[in-house]
Amino acid sequence: MNSRRRFLTLSTLGSLTGLGSLKAFGQVKPVKGPIIISTWNTGIRANNLGYEILQNGGSVLDCVEKGVNVIENDPNNRTVGIGGFPDIEGNVTLDACIMDQHQHCGSVAFLQHIKNPVSVARKVMENTKHVMLVGEGALKFALEQGFKKEVLLTEKTLTAWKKRKAEEDDKLPEINIENHDTIGMIARDADGNLSGSCTTSGAGMKLHGRVGDSPIIGAGLYVDNDIGGAAATGWGEAVIENAGSAMVVELMRHGRSPQEACEEIVRRIANKLEDWRSIQVGFIALNKAGQTGAFSIKKGFTYAHHSGGQNTERPADSLIKG
Ligand code: ASP
Repeated sequence: MNSRRRFLTLSTLGSLTGLGSLKAFGQVKPVKGPIIISTWNTGIRANNLGYEILQNGGSVLDCVEKGVNVIENDPNNRTVGIGGFPDIEGNVTLDACIMDQHQHCGSVAFLQHIKNPVSVARKVMENTKHVMLVGEGALKFALEQGFKKEVLLTEKTLTAWKKRKAEEDDKLPEINIENHDTIGMIARDADGNLSGSCTTSGAGMKLHGRVGDSPIIGAGLYVDNDIGGAAATGWGEAVIENAGSAMVVELMRHGRSPQEACEEIVRRIANKLEDWRSIQVGFIALNKAGQTGAFSIKKGFTYAHHSGGQNTERPADSLIKG
C-alpha cells in the first residue's frame, strides 16, 4: 500500500473509531458498522438481541448486557443463569462481569438466587465505588437494587445432579459443544466503541464456593477501547492462571490479529499444563478495526459472529483437530 493510501486508511480508522493507538492495527482496513461476537451457538440469540438494541439507538453496554440476559433467562441452558448446573452440594452459584468503553467494570461472583448476575455486575459498576462483590454481600446488594430472589435450580438440573450424586460421579462435566458453556460477548458499535460481558454458572459439580475465570476481569473478560476485547470459556482455572483475556488484548496491542492472539494464548496455556489435552479452553476476540478471531484447545468450540447484518455460527480452529 502506498504511503498516501495507508495514511487515508488509518485516518478513516481513526475517525471511525477515535483510535488512540493506530499503530496496533498496521494496515488493517476497518470493518464498518456494528460487530458482535459471542461464545458458542447460544451466542446467536444473544447477538440478535444485541444487534436490535444497537439498531434502536441503545448503547454498546446495553447490547452486551441485554444480549447475554437472553441466555441467563433460558431455563433450558444448563450453564448460565436460571437452570445452571449446581455445585457439588446442589447450589446454583453464578459468576459474571461486564466492562465498558471507559475501562470501567463490574463483577459478581458466587452469587445465588438471582438469575441475571451480569445485570447485578453492571449495577456494581455504575452504583458503587467497587468492582467486585461476592456471595452474601453480592446478594444483599442485588436485593437492594431491586433484583428478585428466585429458585435457580430447575427440575431438569436437579434430576441431572441427583443422578450424578447417585453414581458418585463428582467429575466435572466435560466443557465443550455438548453442554454449551459460559457466554462471553464482545461488541463494537458503529462509532467504534467497545464493551464486553461474561456470565456463567461455572463448572458443574464444582466445590461449593469455587469461583472461575468468568467474573475475573482480565481472565474471563477484558476490554480496552483503544485496542479490542476478548472473552474466555472453558476450564476457568487455566484461564485465571494465565490472565487469559487480558493477554489476548495485550497481544493485539502489540500488533497480533485477534486470531493470532487467541492462538498464542491457547498455545501458552497448553504449554504450561501437563494435562492440557484433557481440558477445553477457548477464546474469542474482536479488535477496534473489526477483525475477529477464535481458537480453542479441543475441537468443537464455536462462536456467533454478527457483522454486516449477518449472524452466523462459526467453528473455531483448535490445537487438537480430531
Ligand atoms: N469458564 C467458566 C468457569 O470455569 C465456565 C466453565 O468453563 O465452566 O467457571
